[in-house]
Amino acid sequence: MLGPPGAGKGTQAQVLATKLGVPTISTGDILRAAVKNGTSVGLEAKGYMDRGELVPDSVVIGVFLDRVSQDDCKTGYIFDGMPRNLAQAKELDRQGIQIDTALSIEISDAEIEKRLTGRRVCPDCAETFHVEFGPPKKDGMCDRCDAVLIIREDDKAETVRQRLAVYHAETEPLKDYYKSQGKLITVENINGIDEATAAVLKALGI
Ligand code: AMP
Repeated sequence: MLGPPGAGKGTQAQVLATKLGVPTISTGDILRAAVKNGTSVGLEAKGYMDRGELVPDSVVIGVFLDRVSQDDCKTGYIFDGMPRNLAQAKELDRQGIQIDTALSIEISDAEIEKRLTGRRVCPDCAETFHVEFGPPKKDGMCDRCDAVLIIREDDKAETVRQRLAVYHAETEPLKDYYKSQGKLITVENINGIDEATAAVLKALGI
């Protein structure tokens, strides 16, 4: 899944994972869990994440390869937030990790700023909600595990702008990388989650 922060990658990845019966690997979720658990990776990653910068490739690639080598990834996977720059994309190729399709979810920067400020996340299971576009059943509580939802540190306005700048400079060039390999599919996310899901399924032919 490619696309700027807040484009709906995680949400669509979950839909696809359920439909295809494969796991979603979100490097953002893995890193947030590491920060929460105070591991050495978490300690190294926290500052970068809080500032809206990319965590160094050596750190991310390490935890990612660990995850992708687990048994549940044998029949396929959906990557959410990985690769995030050309060096990571080339490393995946070098490691023989096959990517069939790069699905880019397109959305304007202005819309993203609006969406991210309304995003709420479950600190326990990482399920994502939005106060306007995808509210939980019970106000402020996770539908799955009933935990109190939180606002991500990096969803604050200033950090969101930094993350968008990083996206345009480092991640967006991946569209050309996968386009040149004939793997790029783009879908616009302008009319909410359900329409975006319909567009994603249609684009993938599933
Ligand atoms: P995300 O949840 O995908 O928006 O990721 C949150 C933060 O985790 C990013 O702003 C980065 O600081 C870090 N991160 C996640 N995935 C990567 C990656 N593949 N490479 C570098 N940093 C990452």
